[in-house]
Amino acid sequence: MSRKKNFFAGPSVLPVEVLKEMEREIANYNDEGLSIVESSHRSEPFNTMYSETLALLGEVMEIPEGYSYFFLGGGGSLQFAMLPLNFLNPAKGATYINSGSWATKALQEAQVIGPVATYWDGKDTSYTTLPAVNTIKPSPESSYLYLCSNETIGGVQWKEWPECGIPLVADMSSDILSRSIPIEKFSLIFAGAQKNMGPAGATLVIIKDEFLEHQNSSIPSILDYRSHQKSNGLYNTPPVFSIWGVKLVLEWVKRNGGTAGMAQRAQLKSSLLYDAIDQSGGYYRSPVDRDYRSTMNIVFRLPSEELEAKFLAATKEAGMVGLKGHRSVGGLRASLYNALPVEDVEALANLMREFQRVNG
Ligand SMILES: *Cc1c(COP(=O)(O)O)cnc(C)c1O
Repeated sequence: MSRKKNFFAGPSVLPVEVLKEMEREIANYNDEGLSIVESSHRSEPFNTMYSETLALLGEVMEIPEGYSYFFLGGGGSLQFAMLPLNFLNPAKGATYINSGSWATKALQEAQVIGPVATYWDGKDTSYTTLPAVNTIKPSPESSYLYLCSNETIGGVQWKEWPECGIPLVADMSSDILSRSIPIEKFSLIFAGAQKNMGPAGATLVIIKDEFLEHQNSSIPSILDYRSHQKSNGLYNTPPVFSIWGVKLVLEWVKRNGGTAGMAQRAQLKSSLLYDAIDQSGGYYRSPVDRDYRSTMNIVFRLPSEELEAKFLAATKEAGMVGLKGHRSVGGLRASLYNALPVEDVEALANLMREFQRVNG
């Protein structure tokens, strides 16, 4: 079987070992005589798999004491709403940094719940840069400060974290597990599985227990983080298949050097493309400020839309998928999540040079 070189932004590439393991185990999990997706979430095979997943996650992400973590359904998008429902104090408001498409969606949801201050907005620079962390000074009264660690569409990524005396909350959907995160700086982190962690369905929520004490009351139980924390993420049926996939991906991450190993891979792969862009004499252009270039989603343009269409056709010809830029920004986008092999990125960098030689 020849596999495509998969640059999709999400759902996205999984390690081939993980897919093979799923294939081997799908009908007969652990020799139990049934599938994990056929097992009750109150049964032994599930319980063991689930507790192993949580233990692995705690280990790989080095989650300190005083935090709870679990998987919910509803994607990152549900978190855009759940977060302000639970934590936006209407008397105090919340502060959002608007770094692009995903932060915009989150702040629009928060505005439904209560007052939102946009501390910084990248609109004037077309969302190609981020504010320096030491300049970020939100109102000390604000319920929390919100940021999106990696803008999947715009291709900007935070490299350091603001410390500003109010709870820090981050959407890490598209760069979770790609680097080491100082969890203790955050009060809440969420991330959908389908970019870097596993098949779509599960959304990881990591929450500081102390933060839960500041929660709004009178929220329907299903939307209340406390219900999920109290039942260790099993308040209702969890996304079993996705969680199983996350477990296999975490094992793969651990075998490959943990988050430090993933950070190295991400650095190597993204440099291959950024070098190809920077050494093209302006033929390929990255709109993103160098200081904040994403290691996960590399956004670039060619001299014309005709050439971009031709380039896209050439990638397809070369067995590559997912390189078309998001419809809102156009151009090209290569998503280089953890599981994408280095060779696939080398192939793309080579194709870029060859395409320029022929069409430049
Ligand atoms: C994909 C993505 C989301 C949305 O995830 P859904 O699972 O589709 O709700 C949110 N934030 C970021 C940064 C993303 O990349």
